[in-house]
Amino acid sequence: MPTPPLAIGFTLDPLDRVSEKRDDDAFVASLRDDPSTRFLLFANNVPLFKRTGGHDPLFDARETAPLGAPLQTVFLGLDADKRALFALDLDNAAKSQLEADAIEAVELRPIAMQGLVAPPLVSALGEARSMLDWHRRHRFCANCGQPTNAAGAGWRRICGHCGAQHFPRVDPVVIMLVSDGERCLLGRQPQFLPGMYSALAGFIEPGETFEHAVFREVLEESGIRCTDVRYFASQPWPFPSSLMIGCFARTTETEIVVDEKELEDARWFSRAEVAAMLDGTHEQGLSAPKPFAIAHHLLKAFATGEIA
Ligand SMILES: [Zn+2]
Repeated sequence: MPTPPLAIGFTLDPLDRVSEKRDDDAFVASLRDDPSTRFLLFANNVPLFKRTGGHDPLFDARETAPLGAPLQTVFLGLDADKRALFALDLDNAAKSQLEADAIEAVELRPIAMQGLVAPPLVSALGEARSMLDWHRRHRFCANCGQPTNAAGAGWRRICGHCGAQHFPRVDPVVIMLVSDGERCLLGRQPQFLPGMYSALAGFIEPGETFEHAVFREVLEESGIRCTDVRYFASQPWPFPSSLMIGCFARTTETEIVVDEKELEDARWFSRAEVAAMLDGTHEQGLSAPKPFAIAHHLLKAFATGEIA
């Protein structure tokens, strides 16, 4: 199997999460007040950056002090120099106060896709975005409907009424490249950029292994039965909190029946055609996802013959 390429976005987690210390309130508070600590700021799920010529998302305690209490605080972990990193969710009043001080808000997706921030920081921003978004959408108990409160340095919520504990969720998604040895099966969702094709994908359902999910999703979307499901690599995808599980699979079937509820088109592509799509030289102008996405690396492994 090919080695997962480091260029996959959101996969270079730079932090020691020290998860065993999250319930040590004194430890977390001491980090919160440490002058070396840095903060990632978000408003409405959009990260904030200093206008410093580049895109610098790291703020210090002096810069965040005038903002007042954030809507949410999550302790993300310690970097290689043992500096703590926190994520803060700001309300609009705090954000507008910052904007007056030469700050800009830029969505994480273009930041990550265009490589505007170093990959390890992109991963930390992704972790922060998923966590803050989870807090925003889980303010009430799913068990009894009463308000919940953050605990464990922001890594769980507890219901003050019924005592239920709620933990951040991750939604697993399988994304798979099916080949017959010579060609691979790619599909087009209506919302893709014109001419772009990618590997088929879908959410894993309760009770499924990822192998079962690959088989079911490929059958549903294309009418193709596949076998020999093999794991390739995974990718956290913080929109809002998926884990993409990249797989390869084989088939001997060729007749595609496109599920038109999910896909605009699905068809077979030769290695040479996939290589041209990755290079941007396809004669019909068809294209493939960029290196930032795990799909690109599945396609590349097929195009280069690393995967039969
Ligand atoms: Zn409750």
